Amino acid sequence: MRRCRDFLLIMVLCSVATAADEPVRKPSDEPLLGWAVCRVHRTSVVHPAATIKPDDLARAKGNLERHAWAQEYLRGLERSVRDWPQKINPEYLRQMVPATTPGDTLFTPCPACRDQGKPWHPHGQWDWSAEASDRLTCKICGTVFPNEKYPEAIELRAAYGGGQVFTYCGAEPFQIFSYLGRPSFSGNIRARKVHFISGICRQLAEAYALSGKTEYARATRAILLRLAEAYPQWLVHVGYGEYADMDPHVAALNINHLPKDELCPPPARPDRRLHTGYWSAGRASGVGMEAGFVRKMVEAYEFTCEAVADGRPVYSDDERIRIEQDLLLESSVLLFADKQVNNKSVGNATAVALVGMSVGHPEMVRFGLDVFLKTVDGWFLPDGGTSESWAYAMMTLGGVSPLGQALRGYSDPPGYRDAEGKRIDRMDLYHDTAYSKVWAAMFNGMQGDLSYPPLADGSPGSQLGAHYAELMADNYPENPQYQALLKATAGDDLARGDRSLAIYYRPVDLADQQAPPVTLPDYCFPELKLGYLRSGPTGRDSSLVLSATDWGGHHHLDSLNLYYWHQGQELLSDLGYLWDHPQKPMTMRTPAHNTVIVDGKDQVSKGRGGAFTLFATTQRVKVMEAESRAYAQADLYRRTVAQIECSDGRHYIVDLFRVRGGQRHEYVFHGPNRDVATKGPSVGPIDAGEVSSALDLANVRGSGKPGPWTLTWNLADHRRFQALWENEAGQLTMIGDGWGQRDWHNTDLGATLPYVVRRAGAGKGLTAFVTAFQSVGAADPIVEEIRRLPVPEDQAEGTVLIAVRTASSTEYVVSCIEPRRVKLTTPDGSLESDGRFAVVSIQSGKPAFAQVFDGEVLRWNDQDCR
Ligand SMILES: [Zn+2]
Ligand SMILES: [Zn+2]
Repeated sequence: MRRCRDFLLIMVLCSVATAADEPVRKPSDEPLLGWAVCRVHRTSVVHPAATIKPDDLARAKGNLERHAWAQEYLRGLERSVRDWPQKINPEYLRQMVPATTPGDTLFTPCPACRDQGKPWHPHGQWDWSAEASDRLTCKICGTVFPNEKYPEAIELRAAYGGGQVFTYCGAEPFQIFSYLGRPSFSGNIRARKVHFISGICRQLAEAYALSGKTEYARATRAILLRLAEAYPQWLVHVGYGEYADMDPHVAALNINHLPKDELCPPPARPDRRLHTGYWSAGRASGVGMEAGFVRKMVEAYEFTCEAVADGRPVYSDDERIRIEQDLLLESSVLLFADKQVNNKSVGNATAVALVGMSVGHPEMVRFGLDVFLKTVDGWFLPDGGTSESWAYAMMTLGGVSPLGQALRGYSDPPGYRDAEGKRIDRMDLYHDTAYSKVWAAMFNGMQGDLSYPPLADGSPGSQLGAHYAELMADNYPENPQYQALLKATAGDDLARGDRSLAIYYRPVDLADQQAPPVTLPDYCFPELKLGYLRSGPTGRDSSLVLSATDWGGHHHLDSLNLYYWHQGQELLSDLGYLWDHPQKPMTMRTPAHNTVIVDGKDQVSKGRGGAFTLFATTQRVKVMEAESRAYAQADLYRRTVAQIECSDGRHYIVDLFRVRGGQRHEYVFHGPNRDVATKGPSVGPIDAGEVSSALDLANVRGSGKPGPWTLTWNLADHRRFQALWENEAGQLTMIGDGWGQRDWHNTDLGATLPYVVRRAGAGKGLTAFVTAFQSVGAADPIVEEIRRLPVPEDQAEGTVLIAVRTASSTEYVVSCIEPRRVKLTTPDGSLESDGRFAVVSIQSGKPAFAQVFDGEVLRWNDQDCR
């Protein structure tokens, strides 16, 4: 019947002009709409076939026998579903799974809030419960809908799909993001009902799989059958309230150039495209992520489709075919119609592949696999690092990681070959693709407390967490560090892990196995261009991060930003990400970062490049150096950062920033808080014109007097953070109050931080800003003074010589733009090197340690001292 109807529709559509130039995509042109292949292969599918396999179920039984946490997980699951088998009946299901297409749970602003002068959000903020399932209550003003004061007076009738009627609030329309639209409380309620009952369905099915209680399987079956009855009539729509009144297959394929007008509430007028297209589209929902619904359906089916009660199958053959055809395959159509790769579509493609595995459609598996590979090979960088930020890497992994699980050991159905004559057998994405590099990068990118530095669009404290640590430990048993990470997140007995994964994927005896402590390496990402220097026996005491990342989505104007974290405290912070906050640019702009501003402007975004020119670590000295083209007028923009362990277990940082070109150079950084004491020349008010307006500082004070400065921030637990430098002749050091807000919820609205700005007039030659940073605990500070020493005139452009005086030593640090043989004079003796970077530590008049990088020669008073 369905086929005939499609055919007739296509005949009609061919004669209708389209709104856009693009030709109408016909269902017959979409290979994945060929479902005959399932009839051949569905009987050879071994169930459960999606993310959880028969071996995983067996493992779950083992974990249930052995571990209290697993039993607690099942008890919790049963607590939430045990009453449902009695509640489920045909009438209730017709109520919870309406014949009319659901709208979406978002895109519903509250007109009562607006009338009361309260702030209203385009999505609304609503309370809803299954007990009072026909009511929505505004969390802000308490108004209950439906409400006779705000009747849904506007009605749109669909010609397709059995006489569906969509109603909208008749009050003044709202600006809902880019759309002048109207809330539909009834549409929102329908979406909530479907969202709720599909969640119950998935839980019931899992409860059956783990407990074997057949009443759960029967209840699952009843819900799936009702959904299979309703879903084919549900129209393709967007949360904004536009519905494509036509065969959903045709609408799915032509969402941006529909063959006939869509339904939309006035004042919107039909334009033959659903507003924002696939990005906000769905059938059970309307926000571009129908995968959430589809995955629940396929997983519920997989857990129960072979259930047997009283010696007879719970599902008849006919029922199984109806669910596979009218629910699983049908709900995939919109998802595979979208061929783009973005952070929503990767999750949708994953759902398509899960359905393909469930029903025996190897082409659909390939569709998901293709997007998976495009994501790990194209969205992630060749070194496995993120193309956007660590936080967005986790979001992208959220889309693809279920497919990684589902394809463990996947083989095509027996006898199947694709159009190129190829088969997939015993697939292992974890080892055979770049996926392994992605996980390694997620590991190597952490700071000592196992969170990510809040660089680019990311917030402090974001962590991989138990969910991903579980996947890593379970899929890479050969890597003891991933097991160590799981123990660090889930506890030594692994009881605090993500139980919903652990019960299926974790080897029963994993907690018994010894794991080493989590050890983080010094690491430089060659493609992402982030360098990490660490300290402490496991590399977890501190993280010093230099960023030379190129520009891209979710990046900041932060080239050569320096971030420093030590023992639980951010010392040189990155302010992070204000998400959709209107003031988001304040933490994206260059002055919000610890870097150098040229001519008072933001860095360029496109074309800034970025490269590491040195990254090397030894026991006492670790150094990294990067450069970029962040300013068109600067032909040299390079930062060299060294971590020097002058006595056992204690280190400090030497920072050398070289810049050449432009008129004005401003070295800017901000410390961790406002509690800062200044030691140095006495400071006075500074004329506003002295500091670039882009910094947006208030209460600026400072001094242009040459001499040493020490700033000391007081931290929790009597700890301190210090920055030391020498103000050179012609330079001006200033401190002012600048942007400090980091939370998009506005909990820290109006926060400011002291910004330190060291300004040097440019012109001839380069500017070299030299600074020492140190974290100070109970003991005295290490560094007492840092100074630049003169070098011979002919070396002035290429070589910087620095003396760092500590209580027990003086370290002489030489940095050359290119490797060159230099002989330099210090107050303690002569230093000769041919490298790019060298350190000699003089204690009691003699070299105590010495290191040269990119060179062979290192001599102190004409003696080899390496
Ligand atoms: Zn309200
Ligand atoms: Zn930033």
